Amino acid sequence: MKPLPVGSVIGILGDGQLGRMLASAAERLGFDVVVLGPNDDSPASRVAAHTIVAEYTDRDALAELSVRCDLITLEFENVPVEALQILEDMGATVYPGQKSLQICQDRHLEKSFARENGVATADYWMVDRVSDLETALSELKGKGILKTRRDGYDGHGQRRLQTGDDAVSAYDGLDGAPCILEAMVPFAGEVSVVIARRADGMMTCFDPADNTHKHGILHTSRVPSKFPDSVQTAAIAAAESLAGALGHVGVMACEFFVLEDGTLLLNEMAPRVHNSGHWTPEACLTGQFEQHIRAIAGWPLGDVSRVMDAEMENLLGDDVLKAFGDAGPEDMITLYGKRDMRPGRKMGHIVRKL
Ligand code: ATP
Ligand code: MG
Repeated sequence: MKPLPVGSVIGILGDGQLGRMLASAAERLGFDVVVLGPNDDSPASRVAAHTIVAEYTDRDALAELSVRCDLITLEFENVPVEALQILEDMGATVYPGQKSLQICQDRHLEKSFARENGVATADYWMVDRVSDLETALSELKGKGILKTRRDGYDGHGQRRLQTGDDAVSAYDGLDGAPCILEAMVPFAGEVSVVIARRADGMMTCFDPADNTHKHGILHTSRVPSKFPDSVQTAAIAAAESLAGALGHVGVMACEFFVLEDGTLLLNEMAPRVHNSGHWTPEACLTGQFEQHIRAIAGWPLGDVSRVMDAEMENLLGDDVLKAFGDAGPEDMITLYGKRDMRPGRKMGHIVRKL
């Protein structure tokens, strides 16, 4: 692939904070950005050179995007695969491609793909009706996490079930959508690996980060990981093999559960820049947003060496007030420019040197 010339135009499907940070990184490398997303006055639109406000499958909007852009990427994994097909039919190049999206959009496809590629996952059962859930729950002695196969994020679309909980109301609570029931994993910790891959197969990988969650939402990511090198190396090897098997182009993230004995189970993959990589722009020579743009543009990948130990903390809802309240001069703050401060909404993050 010929490197994308400076001054080319990159399209981004998706208009949230990830698109905003990608657009900033692209602009620093001399590219213009056009954002396509459904929201007016979105975080990404306010740093892009141009915005098209439309649904992802709006043909006229996709035609405009393909005409305006030399290359198209995405910041949101639930963009319908159909939108990529329409763009490709119009002659556009889209990275990452349809396979990355198709597999990462569905928890069953994602887990079976991981297993086919030698990466273990938690045990799970397919749930398409209440009787499936009752059978699966009896095998799990009443305990598990019911998750919709598609469209889950930040703990939405999930129900934690304990012995004695009512299967009917749990399944109804998720609108009877196709689900899986996952075994509860007694993990010693969670790590994620953020990896970048170019179309020619060249890859770089950031140091694995230890993640903590609160109410199903990422709270902190910390490097270096507390887990031994052997666990970190295995996590990187698994991420590399999954990125290669997907033929992924761009940044992707793999989240793992780590068991007491060091065994890794893939939780999920995100075919995009990831919240657990938000420490990388401050703590590494090249951050994940710049690396994604380099990878899709076919530019040389940057050096991902880490120059400090770091912790990233998400600012949710009114936590954002900390940014101009108790934050110290050592707190490196990024805010997403969201107009409404709703409880649980990701408003920004802080990176601290440890
Ligand atoms: P996001 O997209 O924000 O990563 P999500 O809604 O896709 O989140 P998951 O990654 O499936 O959700 O789960 C969120 C968190 O809930 C996990 O990081 C983990 O802390 C906990 N969790 C999920 N599944 C399990 C499980 N099987 N056993 C134990 N904990 C789990
Ligand atoms: Mg997750």
